[in-house]
Amino acid sequence: MQYIELVEFYELIEATTKRLEMTDFLVNLFKHTPGEVIDKVVYLTQGKLYPDFVGIEMGMAEKMALRALAATTGDSPDEVEEELKTKGDIGLAAESLLKAKKQVTLSRKELLVQDVYDALDKLAKTSGAGSVDAKVRALSGLLADAEPVEAKYIMRTITGKMRLGIADMTILDALAQAFADKEARDEIERAYNHTSDMGDVALTLSKKGIEGIKKYHARVGRPIRMMLAQRMESAGEILEKLGRAICEWKYDGERIQIHKLGNKISLFSRRLENITEQYPDIAALARQNLKVEEAIIEGECVAVDSDTGAMLPFQELMHRRRKYGIEEAVKEFPANIYLFDALLIEGEDLTEKPLSQRREILKKAIKEVNGFRLSDALFSSNVKEIEGYFENAIENGCEGLMMKGEDSTYQAGARGWLWIKLKRSYQSKMIEPIDVVIVGAFMGRGKRSGSYGALLVATYDHEKDVFPTISKLGSGFTDEDLKSLPEILMPYKLKHKHARVESTLEADVWFTPAFVIEVIGDELTLSPIHTCAFNRIREDAGIAIRFPRFTRRWRKDKAPEDATTVEEVLDMYNAQLKKIG
Ligand code: ATP
Repeated sequence: MQYIELVEFYELIEATTKRLEMTDFLVNLFKHTPGEVIDKVVYLTQGKLYPDFVGIEMGMAEKMALRALAATTGDSPDEVEEELKTKGDIGLAAESLLKAKKQVTLSRKELLVQDVYDALDKLAKTSGAGSVDAKVRALSGLLADAEPVEAKYIMRTITGKMRLGIADMTILDALAQAFADKEARDEIERAYNHTSDMGDVALTLSKKGIEGIKKYHARVGRPIRMMLAQRMESAGEILEKLGRAICEWKYDGERIQIHKLGNKISLFSRRLENITEQYPDIAALARQNLKVEEAIIEGECVAVDSDTGAMLPFQELMHRRRKYGIEEAVKEFPANIYLFDALLIEGEDLTEKPLSQRREILKKAIKEVNGFRLSDALFSSNVKEIEGYFENAIENGCEGLMMKGEDSTYQAGARGWLWIKLKRSYQSKMIEPIDVVIVGAFMGRGKRSGSYGALLVATYDHEKDVFPTISKLGSGFTDEDLKSLPEILMPYKLKHKHARVESTLEADVWFTPAFVIEVIGDELTLSPIHTCAFNRIREDAGIAIRFPRFTRRWRKDKAPEDATTVEEVLDMYNAQLKKIG
């Protein structure tokens, strides 16, 4: 197939203003494209050479492309720059300069689609020392063979500015019309959603027809387009839609699809980029703890505090978005993954199986270790139970719950009503620190073994003269603080919970309420666990601090009864309540 034929189609697309006409032109193009290059025609039309997940991008700097153009036309660098300024588009500039070309190419050859593709592919893969001159020469050679109008699209493609504006959905429509019938459209879309590779779908259709597409299934190494969720405002409404639901913590991190084949692990992001290099720790965990040879599974990766293992907000994962120094980032900003789905195991496509079964299969396929676990989940159809579970998730750093139909299939690429997210509509920002009393402690692990990993802290209930808890506090302590804590608190140690302490949590060590410290957090949240202001805002819920941190102010000047009171916490909660999202 000649490249000029493809270019004529581009010209038609550029001229039309009607979407339906766009589809017709595409149908025509696909019908006339020989089977062996149809995948390339599809990629080039999308302005790329491979599906996105391969990670090979065109995006030659404009300056470099202009140098190649100047070498072909014989214009000076200033002249080509000037032309670009006048035309405002590198393709149009190339077209007009080639039309007015001062140098004549003696042995011009007709360009085939395959030639252009191969040349662009080579350019995209050339890198390293001396590559700039080699690239300029290669592009200039290609332009020398091009008609002016061909040069227009070559220049746009190579600089990553193709932008014909043809959506995936339009290509799918056109493929259905060209190779099957309208009814087959869903089958074709399903195939695309399971491999994210439009070129391969086109190739299969042109070679094997719709029967080939029906046999098409997910394959390790090609990301499955991820299933998305709808949103509703209350657990009750969601249950009406779903019946019994699997309610999972909605972790605040990055979605990762893990592919395993033997020892090879690939990780894909929500946008289907290969992000294996950003998460060598997650890849290693998967290599060791996915007990099967072949798998595609999904989970949410979350940043955690390196000392306490507590979950941190999403932003902390940004430290992984870098090219160099990943090893240090892994140490400094560790991450855990919480797994929630299995899409393929040992060659078997599981996407049509009900979620409850997929979860069972996932559970059997992995070894749960620190950092690599199943997502926290509750199977329930009880609104109250789910609300408590929701509050617990928020308090632990999650965004809420992901509620999923027990029998739901995995709908690749779809945002349907089988997964529904439950987030908060209100949030109570915490702008001032509060003073709390230490009433208990939990033993530390890892770096903190031998000392306390977290303290249980309480507010003061003036009316009842008791100390209801408000937080489990593990952040903000220096190494010295941690070392000295057991000694400082030794005089207050008890064999059991103090009679004036109200707690549903079982601490490892209890203290007489005596020692006051200051804490700050991101928010005050409702909590089914903490007893501060219990039943005051909502039945069966107290108030807790989300992402609590010790400010390092020891309030030795304060008696336990001088700690922040329940009434003050309630006032803060109400005063700072804001509608969100
Ligand atoms: P969306 O991903 O739905 O377009 P968004 O990018 O704003 O919207 P959210 O509204 O936060 O994301 O919700 C969806 C995302 O929640 C998922 O893509 C996934 O990354 C994340 N998530 C966290 N926990 C889970 C879970 N248990 N099951 C599924 N997704 C989860």
